[in-house]
Amino acid sequence: MAYAVTHVLVAIIILDFFRHYVFGKKRFPRYLLVVGGIAGLAPDLDIPLGWLVSFFTGVEVNYHGLFTHSLFFVALFVLIGLVRRYQGDKKGALLFYVIAAGWFIHLPLDCFYGETKNFFWPWVSTWNFCPHWDLWNYAAAIDAVLLVVWLVHEEVYNKVKDYF
Ligand SMILES: [Zn+2]
Repeated sequence: MAYAVTHVLVAIIILDFFRHYVFGKKRFPRYLLVVGGIAGLAPDLDIPLGWLVSFFTGVEVNYHGLFTHSLFFVALFVLIGLVRRYQGDKKGALLFYVIAAGWFIHLPLDCFYGETKNFFWPWVSTWNFCPHWDLWNYAAAIDAVLLVVWLVHEEVYNKVKDYF
């Protein structure tokens, strides 16, 4: 799987792009980037969940990729967002759209890393369409490069912003 930093950063970078060039900063407050970044890692909560259940039951279980990597959750969060919007809560709606986006970004990343997860749970359990690029061999390097590029971008961007 892609490493945690990769999941968080890729979600933040994509959302930041939309924040800057599509929605604008006023309509897309900065805290939503944090929410989206965390949501970008959230599908992997099935890993510590497996550890917890194993610890408390004494039976070794592994839930990784079984449920939380499904588009079902993406659709669920979009639906909650739509309901919020219908109720007139625009802020709440946006929050759930961002969670859905972060969650969604996680899935193709895992796929590109050469993993098959239950992307369509509870409907289809196995459908192996992910390319076999085996990016996971370079997971640590990709993590490091992404982090450095992002840090440099933030530094340059913040300096540029100071002039306006
Ligand atoms: Zn994952």
